[in-house]
Amino acid sequence: MTQVHPKAPRTFPIDEEKLIELTRALVRVRSVHEPAHGHTEAKAAALVADTMRDFGWEPVITEVAPGRPNVVAVVEGGGGDGPTLAFVGHTDVVTEGDPTRWTVDPFGAELRDGRIYGRGSADMKGGLAAMLHAVRALQLAGPFPGRVKVCAFVDEEGLMLGAKHFAASEAARDIDAAIVCEPEQGEICVAAKGAIRLRIDLLGAMAHGAMPQHGRNPIVAVGRLLDSLSEYQQHLQDQYGRHRTLGLPYLTPTVLEAGSANQVNVIPSDASVYVDVRTIPGVDHQDLVRTVTLLAQAAGAPEGVAGHVTVLDDRPPVEVEPTEPVVVALAEAHEAVVGSPARYGGVPGATDGTILTRDAGIPTVVYGPGGKWIAHQADEYVEVADLVQCAKVYAEAADRFLRGNAQ
Ligand SMILES: [Zn+2]
Repeated sequence: MTQVHPKAPRTFPIDEEKLIELTRALVRVRSVHEPAHGHTEAKAAALVADTMRDFGWEPVITEVAPGRPNVVAVVEGGGGDGPTLAFVGHTDVVTEGDPTRWTVDPFGAELRDGRIYGRGSADMKGGLAAMLHAVRALQLAGPFPGRVKVCAFVDEEGLMLGAKHFAASEAARDIDAAIVCEPEQGEICVAAKGAIRLRIDLLGAMAHGAMPQHGRNPIVAVGRLLDSLSEYQQHLQDQYGRHRTLGLPYLTPTVLEAGSANQVNVIPSDASVYVDVRTIPGVDHQDLVRTVTLLAQAAGAPEGVAGHVTVLDDRPPVEVEPTEPVVVALAEAHEAVVGSPARYGGVPGATDGTILTRDAGIPTVVYGPGGKWIAHQADEYVEVADLVQCAKVYAEAADRFLRGNAQ
């Protein structure tokens, strides 16, 4: 893809011991969002804010929902005019699930054989700690042009309320590019799939099973609809083909609610099909929703069943060019620090970066410590060497981007 011109890396004094300590301290905070139990990101966010204050920064704390604060610090380079780069992480983690599936304490942050274990170690408290220490090291290395915004958002694993709130705020206006520190195992992810969550309601009329002629059966319409969704998926895949890093678009029915009367001799009045749509660049979301609406109406027509589509969530696919300065800076930094060229990849789901691009027009790239596939699994871990290497790459990439040195 891009030709890179690695220069000799500058030395950024990453405090490796403190980086490991901060990652472990963050993992020990169970920042699963469980409103029923009063659990939020607040304690993890406070730890991020304390770290920023220790660095002499002034974190701005904004509650985007009760007990759910975004933490953002602006680090001025003191080296004259220059661009604004954002580092983006999130403080929430998904649940540990059944703890008996773990061989370690999910929130023990055990350090063993060069790995830190625990929920969120990879996704993404490791990345969060790495970006904080990277920006601190950049600052300690001397003045630089422009500024860095260090952002720790809430609710990435949910509705991305933190990113949405920030993208709508004045603080997002001057950001020229963002590096999202999700675990991607050394890949520079220049694209992320879009997602649409749909609920399709099929509304018929209840009747006695012995007299189906008096009813309008939505279950028969569901059968037709599933067939036509599958055909439409094939059509989209033929039309748009396989994206170089994201693969194919999919329409996957995931939930079926039908037969609420739950009696074999009752024709139910309604049924709903939930569809998880994953798109690639080029697919027009409005067109897609219009087509699914027509398919739902056509599926119900023979029985007189009405079809309605509700969009529950809509996140566009995003992609940056490999020639985008932030991508070039990151690729050069990776090669300079690691000693081999970076691989390019795509993110199968959306990230906070999707929201920053959609709502604030910020070009984003995703790169961070930890395995892509270990996120959300039992015995999640991050390699300490990976953590330290990523912090070095972040500092180096920021330096190149802000100086406009990226070739
Ligand atoms: Zn994440």
